Amino acid sequence: MPKTKIVATIGPASFNENILKNMARKGLSVIRINTAHIEPGYILSVSKLLNKINSDLNTKIGIMVDLKGPELRTGLFKSGYINIEAGKNYVISSANTNADITLNHDITKYIDEETVIAINDGKIHFKVLSVKDNDITTTALDSGIIHDTSRVNIPGRYIDLGTITERDKIFIGEGIKSGATFYALSFVQQKENVYDLQDYIYESGSSASIVSKIETKKGYDNIESIVNASDFIMVARGDLGVELPLKEVAMAQKKIIMESHRKAVPTIVATQMLESMVNADSPTRAEVSDVTNAILDDTDALMLSEETAIGKYPVEAVSYLSDISEFVESHKLSFSEPETIFTDRLAFSISLGLRRIVEGVDINSIIALTKSGHTARIISSIRPEQDIYAVVTSENLAKALNLLRGVIPVVVPKNYVNSNNIYDIINELSSKNILRAGQKTIVISGSPSLIFGGTNDIKVLNIGAFLGRGYAVGKSIKGKINTGNGSGNILIADSYDKNAEYTKFDAVIFRSCVSERIKDYFINNNITLVYNTEFSSNIMPDMEINVDSDTGIITYI
Ligand code: PGA
Ligand code: MN
Repeated sequence: MPKTKIVATIGPASFNENILKNMARKGLSVIRINTAHIEPGYILSVSKLLNKINSDLNTKIGIMVDLKGPELRTGLFKSGYINIEAGKNYVISSANTNADITLNHDITKYIDEETVIAINDGKIHFKVLSVKDNDITTTALDSGIIHDTSRVNIPGRYIDLGTITERDKIFIGEGIKSGATFYALSFVQQKENVYDLQDYIYESGSSASIVSKIETKKGYDNIESIVNASDFIMVARGDLGVELPLKEVAMAQKKIIMESHRKAVPTIVATQMLESMVNADSPTRAEVSDVTNAILDDTDALMLSEETAIGKYPVEAVSYLSDISEFVESHKLSFSEPETIFTDRLAFSISLGLRRIVEGVDINSIIALTKSGHTARIISSIRPEQDIYAVVTSENLAKALNLLRGVIPVVVPKNYVNSNNIYDIINELSSKNILRAGQKTIVISGSPSLIFGGTNDIKVLNIGAFLGRGYAVGKSIKGKINTGNGSGNILIADSYDKNAEYTKFDAVIFRSCVSERIKDYFINNNITLVYNTEFSSNIMPDMEINVDSDTGIITYI
């Protein structure tokens, strides 16, 4: 599975057990419900189906309820539309029903003669000439048709429309009943919008994550403070491409991801990723290139919209994202690190320490025991190559962490929180085939007694039963013990014997010390050497063991 996560919008094309299961098998992490297109009851029915899928496939797919927020739209036209001609004057008003174009909000106090009003997904622009009472007189800059209830944008202006509508509240209520993991907020303009939604959700008794959609110029201008207030950031390129000139959107994507990544806030890149797949069974070269670019920009997740909501090939679209991600990740060598994490310097420093360890030592996996998810988020943000197993005791936290790049959530029983023994957890992970004897893992936790949260501890752990430990040179070796005869490829002897023939062994383990000359001999002959070794169990010929040359630890299987 790739480390880059996949969010897919559900709709008529994918609301089906088999299709969703196939999407899940291809790496789906989160289902987005776009509340612009649903009726009450829909979230509950998605959640019911998803609970079954999660339990059948043992997946941790969460629900993201995407709230539309208050939108600025035109009213109705006498014939359902209006034909606009460039150069002609038009009156726009929220109160005057005789105006050429009516609006659902009064915007007069936010605009002046400098303002440009964009209608119909930014296709038709109007320059403001004058504002009198409720009437805004404008000149059309483009020609075209505007239909009933078209989207209206005022790029770059803060327009106070409130944050949550009554309709949003219905879906938040349903989301809370369904245990939704994420709420995405459309048209975030400033951090106060995020606070408003956060307050409302917390007061409703949920601690779900907030995804701020950056899709207005104002939100883009305020990106730094919005990042600080948010759990996730979405680069919502659909509406952002209306608010910004199209040529600026790709650079804005890079800046939004960079600003988020500096604070270790994970990102989702959304809209038109594989749009041609709404009708075609394979994407265009340009789309594959765009997905590649988003991964190289270092996003945590990619999102599909129409592709999976109404498209003909929802499973194939997920599959393409997954395949492209796996390929690009295997070629990407360097990632940037976050610069500032204000809330938990110790966990951040420990994660930077982890970065140093994985650079120099062979590590198979990383285990984070985490209570709030914070530690997993920081570790993910330094982008280690290894899989990060976030061990938690809450299903919903597991679903939230499932959207972080490279993080695989694992839920363990609640009583493990009070356990003094890391081996309960190691055994649990081994029984799930996540850890295997002979591997080396890094465990990050609180201490004493490996508590979840309060991160202050990092340790390197060899998986497998402990047989002994010495000082090693050469590479790590797996094999069978040889105590003087037999076929084992790892010789164990008391001390160096100048008459012995060592070159037929992959590794040689001495109980005693050896001189530098002898070490040199083994290095030159490419034989792993362990010396000064103490054993804590009995040595048996043909016993299968692992010799870890980083730590000198010998384990048996
Ligand atoms: P939407 O948001 O699909 O809800 O409009 C995403 C975007 O604007 O890109
Ligand atoms: Mn949008």
